[in-house]
Amino acid sequence: MKTTINLKSLNINNEVVAKFWSQVDKHGPLPDQSNPWYKGLSNCWTWTGSKNTGGYGQMRINKKQPGVHRISWFIHHGDVNEDLLVCHKCDNPSCVNPDHLSVGAQADNMLDKSRKKRGKVPFNERNGKTKFSSSQVATMRLIYDTGLFSIKELAIKFSVSDQNLSKILRLKSRPPL
Ligand SMILES: [Zn+2]
Repeated sequence: MKTTINLKSLNINNEVVAKFWSQVDKHGPLPDQSNPWYKGLSNCWTWTGSKNTGGYGQMRINKKQPGVHRISWFIHHGDVNEDLLVCHKCDNPSCVNPDHLSVGAQADNMLDKSRKKRGKVPFNERNGKTKFSSSQVATMRLIYDTGLFSIKELAIKFSVSDQNLSKILRLKSRPPL
């Protein structure tokens, strides 16, 4: 299953690159430096063009609308396999700063793994609290960060309530483990 658009097929030429840069504001917000997740990150580069409902910048190329953070990755680092996720370290979906982007593991693999583990790991049934390992939480954040799935869809995939999942995704003040 392909989760994203193959960038190579889009012919990202000089004209496209120029159009990309014309919609980037390099003086975006500085991620909260008191937060260990964001410490050391420079200013976000805000996409000033059109965005999808998740806040991810979009650009129309050959009738397709890839996320502009992926275009940014392509311009700065080269092609990225369409099975891989380009994620935001800054948690700012409209940011295209290449220093704030990282490539994540295969989405399908992670979803499959979480499906297989369903019912075994996630729930501590005695107190009703959800228990996820830090790597499971990282996976959720990674997948949510693609903007491809809504909280509702992810909640179903991870066998967790919408409320619990939004709580987990909001836990940004927690330092990395
Ligand atoms: Zn950023």
